[in-house]
Amino acid sequence: MTQEMNPFKLAQAQFDQVAEQMGLDQAVRDMLRWPLREYRFQLPVRMDNGSIKVFFGFRVQHNDARGPAKGGIRFAANETLDTVRALATWMTWKCAVADIPLGGGKGGVIVDPSTLSVGEKERLCREWIDAVWKNLGPRNDVPAPDVGTTPQMMGWMMDEYSKLRGEYVPGVITGKPLGGGGSAGRTAATGYGVIVTVREAMRHIGWLSPGRTASIQGFGNVAQYAARNFIELLGGKVISVSCWNRTDKTAYTFCKEEGIDPYFLQSITDQYGSISKKEAERAGYTVEDGDAWLSKDVDVLIPAAVEGVITGQNVEQISSRVKILAEGANGPTTLEADEVLKRRNIFTIPDFLCNAGGVTCSYFEQVQNDMNYYWPEEEVLSKLDQKMSAAFHAVLEMSLDKKLYTRDAAYWVAIARVERAMRLRGWL
Ligand code: NAD
Repeated sequence: MTQEMNPFKLAQAQFDQVAEQMGLDQAVRDMLRWPLREYRFQLPVRMDNGSIKVFFGFRVQHNDARGPAKGGIRFAANETLDTVRALATWMTWKCAVADIPLGGGKGGVIVDPSTLSVGEKERLCREWIDAVWKNLGPRNDVPAPDVGTTPQMMGWMMDEYSKLRGEYVPGVITGKPLGGGGSAGRTAATGYGVIVTVREAMRHIGWLSPGRTASIQGFGNVAQYAARNFIELLGGKVISVSCWNRTDKTAYTFCKEEGIDPYFLQSITDQYGSISKKEAERAGYTVEDGDAWLSKDVDVLIPAAVEGVITGQNVEQISSRVKILAEGANGPTTLEADEVLKRRNIFTIPDFLCNAGGVTCSYFEQVQNDMNYYWPEEEVLSKLDQKMSAAFHAVLEMSLDKKLYTRDAAYWVAIARVERAMRLRGWL
């Protein structure tokens, strides 16, 4: 199995491997290897110059045995049906491991959103809903923002759906703006959840004490809140963060032995997560090359940027001091690197467990929409802590019980929950 393979083939191969270990029935395998339903549709949009441009859109519902399908909508130039299928499959496992009553879905449009005006974006969002609204809904399938889509776009989509239904239906979509049906705590949720799982992992290995150190890749939404919470929740010190520099078109690692100040760094970071090199240097940060974050002598490594960054070529650069690898990003570790992590006994918190705080908060958003009653941020984060801790311990228990690597244990937990729901509903 190689990383270059089509993402859906990879998702299927991962599933096949665990299905074999678990000894799943053939019918379960046949159902879970493929999405339940797939929609592909044309999206004719009137452009600002008066012409009509036809875009292609997708919505894939991988599995909804445990509850409505759930997953983001990506607006990306390189979107394909197979990418959407793979992401929908991974959402099924993420919602199941987090034990939220939702299934897995994903959507997309083949478009580079930076080429569209605000009005064109709005018309494309409304068109997307018009094409597929009969298959969506708080009880069927609940989209959310993802790469290339924003809370504002979710607001337009919710509005379009509500108009078609003739009633206000905020629970059809999550990731809406605050004041427009969104939940407090959503911005912080994924990074916060990452650190809850780090805390539980530290507790498990007897390593939970103030002053632990971390090195983080990325300084966008997930990484910024992971850094803040590593410091504030755990009393730890983040000694380096790495991010992409849009001007120089390369990555840099910003280091400070006495610990970075996440609020200061945030104040010199643009909306795309690029830290200003000049201002960081002026404030006494040492700037090293983009890969330096990986070889730091720290207790915890948190890749929270992009996929495929810890590979067979660089995994040996990880210091012998590292005890925990917390995958804030989706798919940061290649299969070759994973073998080395296992051998070196580094406690890996797999992506679909580690970064499940975002979708868990989306689920809370939907619950609040249903009640039409909204919780303050502290309440959202406290509920998130409970869900993430419970998810972590279910995986840990499975790992200890069956002597499984944590990533495999997370798959076992997720797949077993989905299988059980399918059986309880009489699908099998
Ligand atoms: P973001 O766009 O806000 O930030 C990405 C960060 O990664 C930026 O700081 C960017 O500079 C940095 N980066 C990009 N390429 C890099 C490189 N080669 N080297 C170093 N840094 C690089 O994205 P985000 O929302 O923080 O998401 C990060 C990861 O977490 C992604 O894999 C995403 O799929 C995953 N994730 C995000 C959420 C969420 O709620 N935001 C939820 C689950 C998973």
